Amino acid sequence: MRPKIAAGNWKMNGTAAALSELDALSRALPENPPQVVICPPSPLLFRATDAVHGCPIQIGAQDCHAEASGAHTGDISATMIADTGATHVILGHSERRDAYRETDADVRAKAQAAWGAGLTAIICIGESDAQREAGETLQVIGAQLDGSLPDGATAENTVIAYEPIWAIGTGKVPSIAQITEVHDFIRERLAARFGAEISDALPLLYGGSVKAANAAEIFAVENVDGALVGGASLKADDFAPILTALAQS
Ligand code: PEP
Repeated sequence: MRPKIAAGNWKMNGTAAALSELDALSRALPENPPQVVICPPSPLLFRATDAVHGCPIQIGAQDCHAEASGAHTGDISATMIADTGATHVILGHSERRDAYRETDADVRAKAQAAWGAGLTAIICIGESDAQREAGETLQVIGAQLDGSLPDGATAENTVIAYEPIWAIGTGKVPSIAQITEVHDFIRERLAARFGAEISDALPLLYGGSVKAANAAEIFAVENVDGALVGGASLKADDFAPILTALAQS
């Protein structure tokens, strides 16, 4: 049985006042909640881990540097993230791949660093609109998966998030058939590289405009084990119904 996971990516949103949402979310968790990981901006990490102390919400960061320390102004290392009490880090989000030209090799090196610090890497992959239109989706996903994932991936150290770029923050959602096709493909690709046992155990999240209204339908897909949620994770009132849909899936 794979864990059900809902991760919330707050992106560059929220100051200390937003930590009250964690308290509200902890009170709104469904019965038998899925694993919940909130990824606030890095200045909030220490306070966020304090805020969720004693409740089953985990905290993650949104990126890390591949090096443990050094002359990298403005960056934070996986060790620093783990030091805050956070347990996860999102890597290779399409916004970072786009804005900072992060490559699969960069993501792979960051994942190694994350594992070295004891963090679980939430590794994002996804095709652009143009790549889907050109019929290249599976080719792109396969290459990103191969390039971004180091050897040694397991269900304990890695979560994969399939996030079609054209669905992020747009309100556009792939059809259930499209989500099914890509998630089945990822599962098979992981099995070919890491073996069926690891592939079967590794959680695959869908991300891109997940909302309360579409969550149940997406979570009914066999190889969807949860979601990476942006906009709808900022407010407990929006995120809690998604958690309920996942708990009931
Ligand atoms: C994301 O940025 O990872 C994301 C899925 O955003 P949204 O849910 O807002 O589409």
